[in-house]
Amino acid sequence: MSSLPPPTLRLDLDREALSANWRALDKMSGSARAGAAVKADCYGLGVEHCVPVLRDAGCRDFFVAHWSEVAAVIEHVEAAQVAVLHGPLDANEAAYARETGALPVIDSLRQAKLWEEGGGGPCHLMVDSGINRLGISPQEISDPVVQALDVQVLLSHLACADEDSAMNAQQLEAFRDAIQRIEHREASLANSAGIALGSNYHFDLTRPGLALYGGVPRPELADHIRQVAYPKAAIIQTRKLSAGDCVGYNATFTAPSEMRVGVLSLGYADGILRSWGGAAFRSCEKTLPILGKVSMDMIVIDLSNAPELGEGDWVVLPYHLPDAAQQTSLTQYELLTVLGNRFAR
Ligand SMILES: *Cc1c(COP(=O)(O)O)cnc(C)c1O
Repeated sequence: MSSLPPPTLRLDLDREALSANWRALDKMSGSARAGAAVKADCYGLGVEHCVPVLRDAGCRDFFVAHWSEVAAVIEHVEAAQVAVLHGPLDANEAAYARETGALPVIDSLRQAKLWEEGGGGPCHLMVDSGINRLGISPQEISDPVVQALDVQVLLSHLACADEDSAMNAQQLEAFRDAIQRIEHREASLANSAGIALGSNYHFDLTRPGLALYGGVPRPELADHIRQVAYPKAAIIQTRKLSAGDCVGYNATFTAPSEMRVGVLSLGYADGILRSWGGAAFRSCEKTLPILGKVSMDMIVIDLSNAPELGEGDWVVLPYHLPDAAQQTSLTQYELLTVLGNRFAR
């Protein structure tokens, strides 16, 4: 039997850029050190590809959202370096935390109680300073069940760090107040955008995610962050259209004259959503517009400008995240996390 042929779509990862992005964010964090948000499979790019690079760059603090994400990360780093943002929902999850050695982020009085009933031990604590997502409220800090926790990192999370909002300073004040009221080893407030808000926001540890993977949530970061992910696809078929021929579902493109087109082996099932309609692929310096609607597994492109391209040749989708976000009306976060698992990484 012949071996499994390689996929006809690839997500090339610039590991050097990923490493450089972490080092840049660590440097911008001043006297604080940068950790890394590696939840959602490193924002869709792949834990097994990204976590070793971040570790080798010097990162020691890794944040996931779910307990199901722990196992893949601790194949590459020490369990005690992994924090689970959603905390323990029940005794089962608390027991799993102890078994693996990953640290829960305690997000409520109920979770604090659950953690202590299971034996307590080191944990992190999230205090809500205004986003009203997860975290104990500032008033709850004085509760004995919270005061009894062995808090390693006291965290809070900014709601509007990517904007020049008055809320940033309000959350900073609320966090500074919280810090006074509970014992902890270290404090952490800033995500990627928060790092660019200045040293007041850095405390001991920052938690960039998006910017590690090439996202630019604030203009101050633009000169420091490099693109990491490059989606590429093979042309699996070329065709000749006659004037008047249509392309794709609902026949939204009609050829104005005879033209040569290529069919690419990727589509919205891979995360190249319909909102990419009207955008273009590239080959070297040439622009290859998308024709008609994006299908689940296929995209048709105009090859009029590129007679040299044929079946089996590869083309690139420009995936500079700030530009792509403008072009598609998706956020930079969504552009990363929608990328599907048919890509060879
Ligand atoms: C996702 C997340 C981060 C990382 O945020 P970015 O905006 O991607 O840098 C940091 N902290 C918490 C609590 C998060 O949920």
